[in-house]
Amino acid sequence: MSGKKAHVITYGCAQNENDSERLRGMLLDMGYTLTNKNDEADVILFNTCAVRENAEQRVYSNIGALKALKAQNPEILIGVCGCMVQQNHVTQHIKNRFPHIDFVFGTHAISRFPQILHSATQQRIFDIAACNESLSEGMPHDRMSTVIATVSIMYGCNNFCSYCIVPHVRGREKSRSVRDIIYEAEGLAAQGYKEITLLGQNVNSYSEIPFYKLLELVSKVDGIERIRFISSHPKDVTDNLIYTIASNPKVCKQLHLPFQAGSNNVLSAMNRRYTREDYLKIIKQLKAKIPGITLTSDVIVGFPTETNDDFEQTIDMVKTVEFDMLFTFLYSRRKGTPAEKIEPVLAPDEIKNNFDKLLALQNEISAKQNNRLVGKTVKVLVEGESKNDKKSLSGRTDGGKIVNFKGSDTLIGKIIDVKITNAASWSLSGSVL
Ligand code: SF4
Repeated sequence: MSGKKAHVITYGCAQNENDSERLRGMLLDMGYTLTNKNDEADVILFNTCAVRENAEQRVYSNIGALKALKAQNPEILIGVCGCMVQQNHVTQHIKNRFPHIDFVFGTHAISRFPQILHSATQQRIFDIAACNESLSEGMPHDRMSTVIATVSIMYGCNNFCSYCIVPHVRGREKSRSVRDIIYEAEGLAAQGYKEITLLGQNVNSYSEIPFYKLLELVSKVDGIERIRFISSHPKDVTDNLIYTIASNPKVCKQLHLPFQAGSNNVLSAMNRRYTREDYLKIIKQLKAKIPGITLTSDVIVGFPTETNDDFEQTIDMVKTVEFDMLFTFLYSRRKGTPAEKIEPVLAPDEIKNNFDKLLALQNEISAKQNNRLVGKTVKVLVEGESKNDKKSLSGRTDGGKIVNFKGSDTLIGKIIDVKITNAASWSLSGSVL
């Protein structure tokens, strides 16, 4: 494939980013070089997300826009993969509505990508079979950073929250072996990576050994200085996990713990299997055992059974916990989920008002939390150039807060002391000591 170029476009979560690293790794192994321009690519691949309807609409519009490019250059191969196409109705729609799409494959077929691409030169390929094969190991990765890396420890989810499509498209939980995870971590350390984020839809239900023990084992890998993990489900947070975050110096003092709704009625309709009281008890323990811990969460506004009274309990939860950051989402109705059938209690403009109110509150709290760091000196792992200012460097604190500062490229990959001079809702800035 020498001289041929490929463009991989990724939507969605960290798991999808990690899958795209493997897809790009395979393309490089096949001899492609990578580009970020459709008009110079020989292969264009959309790695899609199914969690929200507007992301799906964006994919349809982006693949539709490539019709003219395919007409001009019939040799180009255009494909769609990931969670969205793991839904049968989506693949049928693409098959019928977008004849210029050459290949489609689901979340269970990633390791078959080279064969799928080869077959797509002869005929259209649609491969969304779910399979019970063991997990593929040793696949190449084209990683985005030379300092921080993600390592998937499990795939799928068993929780069946009533609004969520993930268990339907990624299947039941499957954990990688401890040996394979440690082997990947050691390989990353040998390449100079300093920080690893362990990934899974619900890392605390990792099944080979208790998750806190896996954290202990990864922390023994020489060269890896920081370990993070996403996502955790409140029902699976144990005392041992809290103790490990508190006591292991390599495990970052940060927890992303989605609460999704502040009202017990809504939590029950969501099938989240914890109450607001359970959630607040975990937060109390975390704050007591790990002073200064960074807490972040996901919240859904406008779940169909949610009333304004329910929403006020979400507001109350946010005021009580004072999260450092909140990922707020408008409920998105997903075909095939139990919640799909429930008619919303609130009108769209009421839901939008509630969403805006939550966002304004959290912006205020995030700014307040970040302001507490002004004047303090923090340890920052320098990741590279700042996204918004190429003349600055950027890194993260142990708690995961982004810090921008001026400094030499030789600092990249090092943990340095930075004095915080300014704070905004989303990031900090400072100067190197
Ligand atoms: S825990 Fe719930 S929200 Fe998260 S992926 Fe599993 S089913 Fe979806």
